[in-house]
Amino acid sequence: VSIQSSQSRQLCQTCKRPLSVCYCSALQQVTNQIKVLIVQHPLEEKHPFNTGRIAHLGLSNSELIVAESLSHAQLDKILAIPSMLLYPSLAWLPEPVKTGQSICDIASMNQLIVIDATWRKSKKILHLHPRLQEIPRLSLQGELKSNYQIRKTSMADGLSTLESIVKAMTLLEPAQNFAPLLKPFEKMIAIQQSHYTS
Ligand SMILES: [Zn+2]
Repeated sequence: VSIQSSQSRQLCQTCKRPLSVCYCSALQQVTNQIKVLIVQHPLEEKHPFNTGRIAHLGLSNSELIVAESLSHAQLDKILAIPSMLLYPSLAWLPEPVKTGQSICDIASMNQLIVIDATWRKSKKILHLHPRLQEIPRLSLQGELKSNYQIRKTSMADGLSTLESIVKAMTLLEPAQNFAPLLKPFEKMIAIQQSHYTS
């Protein structure tokens, strides 16, 4: 019989995880110039690792929108800022999505839009929003395998949203160190592993 304390069931208001596995003590704020806008699929919000939220909590200049579809008014507001779409999480799509511009002039971009969803859902979100297909894409080259071994998640096969953002922002703002964003993620994995092995 397992008895859960009320504390372990209570959710942290910041990371939305049970207090017993809250990672907030490992959160570090990183200052970024180019805004990171994360469009998170509602299913991803329920995902125990929710790395899009970690990125949002760590980046000083970021926004998290949980939605599968955005209204025209929302898109108008989002795209009022010169934007590029982060492509890494989509780079392993089985077929290329409709082509936008493949190379973007990074200097003129003030916002990085990241879709936080499984590839299927990412594709659906792009399909639902042709305007997102048209904006320039930032593609990450090279090894896109996660550095982390995580059990029981679909993330193990690809780069997590958080790692993708860290890679992209390191490319876009080389003077800043974005590695501290990974700390809560590492803490979360450590907590998970201790639960599995104990
Ligand atoms: Zn927390």
